[in-house]
Amino acid sequence: TAASGGGLVAYADSAAESAPEPSQDAPKKKVLVLGTGWAGTSFLKNLDCSRYEVKVISPRNYFAFTPLLPSVTCGTVEPRSIIEPIRRMFEKKSKDVTFCEAECFKIDASKKIVHCRSAVGTNLDGNGDFTLDYDYLVVALGATVNTFNTPGVLEHCHFLKEVEDAQKIRMSVIDCFEKASLPNISEEEKRKALHFVVIGGGPTGVEFAAELHDFLVEDLVKLYPAIQELVKITIIQSGDHILNMFDKRIAAFAEQKFQRDGIEVATGFRVVRVSDDSISMKSKSVGGEVSVPYGMAVWSAGIGTRPVIMDFMQQIGQTNRRALATNEWLRVRECEGVYAIGDCATVSQRKIMDDISMVFKMADKDNSGTLTLKEINDVLEDICIRYPQVDLYMKSMHMLDIADLIKGAIGDSHKESMVADIEEFKKALSHVDSQVKSAPATAQVAAQQGYYLAECFNKMEKCKEHPEGPLRMTGESGRHFFRPFRYKHLGQFAPLGGEQAAAELPGDWVSMGHSTQWLWYSVYASKQVSWRTRMLVVSDWTRRFIFGRDSSR
Ligand code: FAD
Ligand code: MG
Ligand code: MG
Ligand code: MG
Ligand code: MG
Repeated sequence: TAASGGGLVAYADSAAESAPEPSQDAPKKKVLVLGTGWAGTSFLKNLDCSRYEVKVISPRNYFAFTPLLPSVTCGTVEPRSIIEPIRRMFEKKSKDVTFCEAECFKIDASKKIVHCRSAVGTNLDGNGDFTLDYDYLVVALGATVNTFNTPGVLEHCHFLKEVEDAQKIRMSVIDCFEKASLPNISEEEKRKALHFVVIGGGPTGVEFAAELHDFLVEDLVKLYPAIQELVKITIIQSGDHILNMFDKRIAAFAEQKFQRDGIEVATGFRVVRVSDDSISMKSKSVGGEVSVPYGMAVWSAGIGTRPVIMDFMQQIGQTNRRALATNEWLRVRECEGVYAIGDCATVSQRKIMDDISMVFKMADKDNSGTLTLKEINDVLEDICIRYPQVDLYMKSMHMLDIADLIKGAIGDSHKESMVADIEEFKKALSHVDSQVKSAPATAQVAAQQGYYLAECFNKMEKCKEHPEGPLRMTGESGRHFFRPFRYKHLGQFAPLGGEQAAAELPGDWVSMGHSTQWLWYSVYASKQVSWRTRMLVVSDWTRRFIFGRDSSR
């Protein structure tokens, strides 16, 4: 058992023995999972399904490997290669897991039921509506596109969120080329048809633009020699730089590469309207509106909230939010038995300043009203688990231990004999909460949350009495509870086309160029969910290297 401060804290996740088997006669608790994306499947994969009666709802009976969706838009990878049937994924657990292909359109937490609708009419009244009840609900519905209510976007732009979107983009790109090759069309019309616009300079938009450019120079130039001069790719970005969530060096590298490639990057422009043949945008600095004709546009300017989540947030009083707020154990705030993971949720981390008196009291074992260095060190590990911002703050300030932090607050004093009262303790920690940041909406976060939540469910029996800790548990030995969730960033890739990629790796490492692209190939091959999809993806890449992409619609 991991113990800090002399065996005071026992973590369930490091206990050697496993939880007792549920008794035979007690009915199994019902776990209902909504969604089969990154978060939902990661949860299901790691859940000991024999402990529960598990039901899964999703309108798509497959998991899609979203990081390769941009590659599907130009036929570098085939759609079938990046999807895995849900029933196959959980074949070995099929005794305990039931899947229904349906859409959930309402969550009723007060009655503990969800309302679902299948695409096929199965009822007497001809529709496919049904309800399911649950003891525990895991909401993993992901996010939807966000148009920011910009007129015309829904009608005229493509999105890149689902497999079908990528397939539509692929056909549409080819259609533009075929249209521009027809005999009775003017050069101006041709230019218009061959103007591809990407709205949003985040990782998805940038990767799509890079894919499209590769498709162009590697395949289409040879197949459409008469019109290759007329093609143009533009990325419209409202911020000052593309890829602004990455390290500055990566953003600069990408911008330079795109400039060499002839991909136009229009920064500081906000799209205000899209019609069937032109895109209107406003310059942030100069003002004034410009319109550009276009052949095809892809909108990837942000993610939004699904209506069913919106409705649920309304019910439980979480208004004016983009995502469901959960506590650090991923349980939806103010909602018993409901958990939320992935893009539809954000963890709202408690601030240490809100709990500062409690923390002080916990640490002050001898009730002296002051903390010695030893008293602080004894609870430091617990504090850093409960409030990761303390850890992050000390790291960001290059502080080795908490003594530095306290010393800074109470002035120079001898490390060993130092004592701090509550005011000094408060002062020392006063800037720590600035380090609280929410995890990004990525597959990496979603998968880690799914994994973590399954671990919690697997240990539910054991942690029943004291589910949430530590700190509150300090001083009571032998109690089991869960560590709060903590995201571990493993780095991020940005493929930039032309066999070049950029990567941000943990520890402030940045790597760019051809070798990074090879790293990308190997990481993405290894991340595939099955040997079947891994083989398909690798053979798609090989086929593309040898024969190029398929340019038929
Ligand atoms: P999703 O994976 O979106 O899953 C949501 C699930 O809910 C789906 O199964 C869906 O069918 C289902 N669902 C939807 N509505 C309903 C309903 N009403 N009822 C029941 N089920 C429903 N992240 C990275 O970390 N690295 C990358 O390289 C990367 N590249 C990306 C590229 C693209 C093109 C896109 C779109 C995303 C990319 N992401 C990447 C982000 C990543 O895909 C998301 O963060 C991740 O999918 C979130 O997982 P999730 O389970 O929350 O949602
Ligand atoms: Mg999911
Ligand atoms: Mg997914
Ligand atoms: Mg999230
Ligand atoms: Mg004391």
